[in-house]
Amino acid sequence: MAARGAARGAADFFDVAVIGAGGAGIAAAIAAAREGARVAVISKEPIGYGNTRIAGGGLATENVPDDLFDDVVHSGAGLADRQAVRVMADEAAETIADLVRLGMVFVGEPTGKPHGYRLGGHSKDRILSCPNSGSSLAQALRGAVASFDVELFEEVMVCELAGRPGGPVSGVIAYDMIEGRFLDIRASSVVLATGGAGWLFHPNTDNLKTVTGDGYSLALRAGAGLVDMEQIQFLPLSIVYPRSMRGVFAGEPSRVSGPRAVLRDGDGAKLLDGLDRRTRDELSNAVFAAMREGPVTEHGAVLLDLRENRKLPADSPELAGWKRPTGAVRQAYGRDVFFGHQPMEIMPTVHHLMGGVATDVEGRSEVAGLFAAGEARGGLHGANRLGGVALLDILVFGRHAGQAAAVHAQSVKGAAPASNIGAEALAETLGAAQSREKGERAGDLRRELMDAVWQGMGGARSDARGRKALSRVREVGGRMADCRVVQKKSWNLDALDLLELNLMVPSAEAILLASELRRETRGAHMRDDAPEADSAMEGKRTRIAMTGGALGAEWQAIR
Ligand SMILES: Cc1cc2nc3c(=O)[nH]c(=O)nc-3n(C[C@H](O)[C@H](O)[C@H](O)COP(=O)(O)OP(=O)(O)OC[C@H]3O[C@@H](n4cnc5c(N)ncnc54)[C@H](O)[C@@H]3O)c2cc1C
Repeated sequence: MAARGAARGAADFFDVAVIGAGGAGIAAAIAAAREGARVAVISKEPIGYGNTRIAGGGLATENVPDDLFDDVVHSGAGLADRQAVRVMADEAAETIADLVRLGMVFVGEPTGKPHGYRLGGHSKDRILSCPNSGSSLAQALRGAVASFDVELFEEVMVCELAGRPGGPVSGVIAYDMIEGRFLDIRASSVVLATGGAGWLFHPNTDNLKTVTGDGYSLALRAGAGLVDMEQIQFLPLSIVYPRSMRGVFAGEPSRVSGPRAVLRDGDGAKLLDGLDRRTRDELSNAVFAAMREGPVTEHGAVLLDLRENRKLPADSPELAGWKRPTGAVRQAYGRDVFFGHQPMEIMPTVHHLMGGVATDVEGRSEVAGLFAAGEARGGLHGANRLGGVALLDILVFGRHAGQAAAVHAQSVKGAAPASNIGAEALAETLGAAQSREKGERAGDLRRELMDAVWQGMGGARSDARGRKALSRVREVGGRMADCRVVQKKSWNLDALDLLELNLMVPSAEAILLASELRRETRGAHMRDDAPEADSAMEGKRTRIAMTGGALGAEWQAIR
């Protein structure tokens, strides 16, 4: 591994540039390096961060042939990419064996008997536990990539892809956050491993601040399509207050509800029981419906009441799988709520994007030289994502994308890199914003955008709410050109706000356009003006693409 920053500022040429260094990015980088490619990894954060690091650490594996395939396809409500699910199920065991060879240790592994548990929607006990949650996985991957000759650009944000619109891609234009300048990094293949877009919904998300949907916009601008962008997974149980903790994961319903949990409205009236048997989308949709109809709690939420569980004898077999909520619940609400003596205020939080860049199973997008993996890529999970399967997805398809990117780079060796854009153009735009004496701040515009996205997409969608949100997002996009950015060079968070906003706007638009097109309720996509699934939309994905600078939505038949 090259020393951090060794190549900063140089006009470098790589075979493969990987954007993002969570699990998918590192898996891609290792796979490409194993193929002999010269690899750069460019990430806004240190290597091994992203949502991978804060994951609960449940990783699905295959224990009985076809079971995982069946469960994932079933949960995808007709939209899961069956070919990709097949590959994932077939390669799960070997992927995990390779991870162990790279240094990962699972709970129970030292005894040779990794413990497998079950999450909602899985028909078998097949979830392996990473000790210390996702941080141990991220740490193992960080350690593994260090043994390869990979150039690392940490705290560097990719702002544009270089190349002619429609391809081929010829590298990236990136902003070095530490030194405050733009870099041209040339590469024959680029892998988008930028994660999802939970932060577009802030504060109603459990995602990290860096997960702003950049990869979706980068792909659109390069000419690649996105699929299933309306399919956004909510986790039903998140913390509601204090505001600083809003959106933080409170626990999996299948584990923390126990046998007798009850969902209640703000006045304490019973709404629903059997919570431990509900899937994430089923329970989230029920909570959103209750929040819409009211009455709600002081903080606009509903109540999870665990008190009936406590009436059972402590040794009751019914309580065998009952787990406490996450430690964050104790921190936010105190010990009485944590132990179930008092009901807990909860609401759904944005957790995962099932949609993303349209690719084949090797991660090839519709644009030559552009690949995608992990949460940046769409189609695998369809309309819902089972617990533990995201971490398997990023490892399996990160590897595929890295391998295919290296093979592509080999095939175009010697071709002159083509580019219509360089670092200078972006430097000029930022310079103009820095020389402005008056103007709005990008941070304020971001907050407006996030509020619009939440109003349009948080919970049940409708034509009216969606259109209003879309026009607010476009209006924010229009005002962005006149923003003012402070002069500071190093760690200029104001500049970062603007550069990210520039990518957040098209991603938000893509989500809203896909939601408008799918005028039915399917999986995680719930519409209160079309509450049933529509058979006319069976077997079709929404596809968003950019033509002449404008985004459009269309249907794509599922292969
Ligand atoms: C709280 C939480 C708990 C979870 N628990 C589980 C679990 O137990 N099991 C499971 O299977 N899944 C879980 N998930 C989902 C899973 O963690 C993610 O889907 C997965 O880690 C995504 O990996 P990734 O590599 O695609 O993206 P990430 O790990 O999010 O990494 C993306 C990286 O790209 C970087 N980046 C983004 N844009 C740019 C840019 N423009 N330039 C440079 N770098 C950029 C970011 O800084 C980030 O480091 C959880 C998610 C959350 C939020």
